[in-house]
Amino acid sequence: MLDIRIETTTTPKELPKADNPLKFGTIFTDHMFVMNYETGKGWHDARIVPYQPISLEPSAMVFHYGQEMFEGLKAYKAEDGRVLLFRPDKNIERANKTNRRICIPEIPDEDFLQALKAIVKMDEAWIPTKQGTSLYIRPFIIATDPFLGVRPADTYLFIIILSPVGAYYPEGLNPVKIWIEDEYVRAVKGGIGEAKTGGNYVASLKSQVKAHEEGYSQVLWLDGVERKYIEEVGAMNIFFKINGTIVTPKLNGSILPGVTRDSVINLCKTWGLPVEERRVSIDEIYEAHKSGTLEEVFGTGTAAVISPVGQLRWEDHIMKVKDGGIGEYSQKFYDTITGIQLGRLEDKFNWTVEVK
Ligand SMILES: *Cc1c(COP(=O)(O)O)cnc(C)c1O
Repeated sequence: MLDIRIETTTTPKELPKADNPLKFGTIFTDHMFVMNYETGKGWHDARIVPYQPISLEPSAMVFHYGQEMFEGLKAYKAEDGRVLLFRPDKNIERANKTNRRICIPEIPDEDFLQALKAIVKMDEAWIPTKQGTSLYIRPFIIATDPFLGVRPADTYLFIIILSPVGAYYPEGLNPVKIWIEDEYVRAVKGGIGEAKTGGNYVASLKSQVKAHEEGYSQVLWLDGVERKYIEEVGAMNIFFKINGTIVTPKLNGSILPGVTRDSVINLCKTWGLPVEERRVSIDEIYEAHKSGTLEEVFGTGTAAVISPVGQLRWEDHIMKVKDGGIGEYSQKFYDTITGIQLGRLEDKFNWTVEVK
């Protein structure tokens, strides 16, 4: 049990107006959760303080060698007024897996959950209620030792910030165009691809810029060794419906294990829909498209939940899926997961956790 000290802001900000589009990641709430770590002392000084800049030495290790991790999940205001988190246990488990991979001290699961609940409760008034909106929660940890040598740090800051976010697709699901990258790679088995850490994102920027210039919204990565097997999209896992079966790349050490990915797989199983986690080559997708059995493609991730893919570009081949429209199952997964998140559908899996 953390003993969380609370310092309430004396200058509360104005809450966003109901018609504010709440562009992703631009508005932050009144408070943040902070906790320190020091070797020998452990995690300590848990506190909720006004949202504010942090002061670090220019030599702080995070700036030089990137020892940092982050997570992303959401809080929702259910129609009956309850505040719900979606599968926070999965994010916490993944956070500690990331921590172990990059030598950051773990945070006890129950302390992590307590911190999430406490900060969401504190700024509950910031949870938007309009259809499709939510409160995005961004926990992260940075290495703060003022030291230029290379080793795991002895001091860290754990911070949780909150950001009200609008509907990812204000006009309903909107298919995206995906660029399949065959030059650069994001991650390799044995590397940090399965950890949620900034290093994977900085490795992706150049391709993302190139894809944007070509009119594509995100990059789909192939495996780092043979450039043959499909891994995942920028910040989403990827699913295909091929001839009636839902197929997604098997977690192989370089793919981020998404919570939304896991939720979709679970839904398939309860619906009796065949689902396979296995290696998927780009040639298989190309052939399936050619033969007309590539029925749907969609990405999964906390931000958009489900992102239908209307077009894939691989080398000179442009593969249109569903004539650029939305697949039946993409819509069904979206409606079901968001229905559970908002407490509108029965939560048979016990996925939601109420913040009281
Ligand atoms: C966070 C993330 C995802 C999606 O994970 P969710 O838990 O479903 O939000 C997928 N790929 C990468 C690289 C990510 O960082």
